[in-house]
Amino acid sequence: MDFDGVLLRRGEPAWNPLIADMLCHASVAHELWDRMLSAAHRSQFADELGCDGEQAARQVLALLAGVRRVGEASPMHMNGLGSRVHSPALEIARPSWQRGAERSGLTASVLRSRFPAEPVERIGAAVLPRLLGCDCPEVEDGERCTTPTHHGLNLAVHSMLLEDGNERHSDTVAVAARAAGRGPWPAIRKALVNDVARHVGLEPGRVPDLIQPGEGVRSLKRLRHFTGTVARLPVGDPSYGYALPDDPLETLSHRAHRIARTVVAHQARPA
Ligand SMILES: [Zn+2]
Repeated sequence: MDFDGVLLRRGEPAWNPLIADMLCHASVAHELWDRMLSAAHRSQFADELGCDGEQAARQVLALLAGVRRVGEASPMHMNGLGSRVHSPALEIARPSWQRGAERSGLTASVLRSRFPAEPVERIGAAVLPRLLGCDCPEVEDGERCTTPTHHGLNLAVHSMLLEDGNERHSDTVAVAARAAGRGPWPAIRKALVNDVARHVGLEPGRVPDLIQPGEGVRSLKRLRHFTGTVARLPVGDPSYGYALPDDPLETLSHRAHRIARTVVAHQARPA
């Protein structure tokens, strides 16, 4: 069977092995903030984001770093779980994921050919504003929201995920929104984002209030650089073992903290 790494239990929160990596990236952001950033850097981050205090900036950065890959929860990008990875630990974890996907009746492979190949980042840019607190009723995924109090949220998402920031928003993001997938996909992405938010201790709906950059700010460069750095750190090393579909969020959170500490300590060690 072609396992696509997606599990949606009927009537229960969506689940997906992607969450394990997303939680790790959120924890890596916390670790980098706590152990690697100077006081001056932390203060500059809070200023750039327009956060009221460094604690808010720390949480916002961890949430954004964690949800950065949510575009992978879309038909084109749900590839077989670890099909390019070979490890004894994954051989043990994989059958249980396969049974879960089978129960859910949700396999992406049959849908794949109907969807255009859009970069994961653009799909993320299309769907994340809604998932992180833009509740404007007339705005659909991929459309530009013009509500002034949502400007910081949109700017943060686009700075993080689009190379050209906001410049070609309508060309790129609206197309990507169509590749994000309908049916169960929005619920899966919502559950992923909500789990990352619980992991970092921040309500997703509060994000627009927390990010209030100054007037005239066109791009959040520090945010883009920081979340890009987090994304490049290797949290998926097979030696860390694999999460299981029935692991509760608490177990996954502990696992993410442990891996993040290891990964960041490794970065900090002098070469
Ligand atoms: Zn909005």
